[in-house]
Amino acid sequence: MTDSHAHLELPAFDPDRRSVLERARAAGVHTVVAMGTLDADRSHERTFSLLDEVHPGGADHDDPGLPALHTTIGCHPHDAKDFDALGGESRLHDLAGRPRLLAIGEVGLDYHYDLSPRPVQRDVFRRQIRVARDLGLPVIVHHRDAEDDFLEIADAEGLDRCRAVLHCFTASARLARAAVERGFLISFSGILTFRNADPLRRVAAEVPRDRLLVETDAPFLAPVPRRGKRNEPAFVVETARRLADARGETPEEIELATDANFRRFFRLSSAAPS
Ligand SMILES: [Zn+2]
Ligand SMILES: [Zn+2]
Repeated sequence: MTDSHAHLELPAFDPDRRSVLERARAAGVHTVVAMGTLDADRSHERTFSLLDEVHPGGADHDDPGLPALHTTIGCHPHDAKDFDALGGESRLHDLAGRPRLLAIGEVGLDYHYDLSPRPVQRDVFRRQIRVARDLGLPVIVHHRDAEDDFLEIADAEGLDRCRAVLHCFTASARLARAAVERGFLISFSGILTFRNADPLRRVAAEVPRDRLLVETDAPFLAPVPRRGKRNEPAFVVETARRLADARGETPEEIELATDANFRRFFRLSSAAPS
């Protein structure tokens, strides 16, 4: 399985990061995207150090006890207010050249927490999409309570031409359909397993199988039956199982589809690490 979105650099994993990765591999998770976040805490540096440990020189891993890691770089909407102070577009251009970097992200709009002013979030989202287009990289999108502005910006900036993943999808069937029309992938997190998530499971049942991804967003959003605990990549299997159930498919079908979608979308070799 592939965990398409995890924050392994966060202090929640300081006590046992290596064991977390070993447990993921033992659970069948052969690939994890460790998000690289451009923020005032220099989070991306910790992510990149972890990649350098697991993949010295950026090469494919040769440790069968660990998942293969990939990474990203992006300024989260929470931190959009700091984007210029952090170096803006030129910093992104510099960091995006590192080995095993797949995408610009996570970037987008979060009108739930509003930790940056909305006009600043919109401006920084637009500017980061332009960087992705310049570099020919896909975009991993964080969006919350911002459907109309998200679609307006996506269409104005040609997000469909640089390809996008809507991560931790919790939005409406309308947005899911709009995303599918534009060629985006839709990634479901542990929220899909929550007791009150029937509406989201109905949305998930409608998404074409070749557009699905699964993720943990670890250490946040642990799936049932671990809800409320620290999340970790091994638990993505619970989300996949619930997704399969909601769609009337088998966990094996979901595993094969999400792996294949991930590798096709990010233009990786078709064979997953074994
Ligand atoms: Zn997010
Ligand atoms: Zn995230």
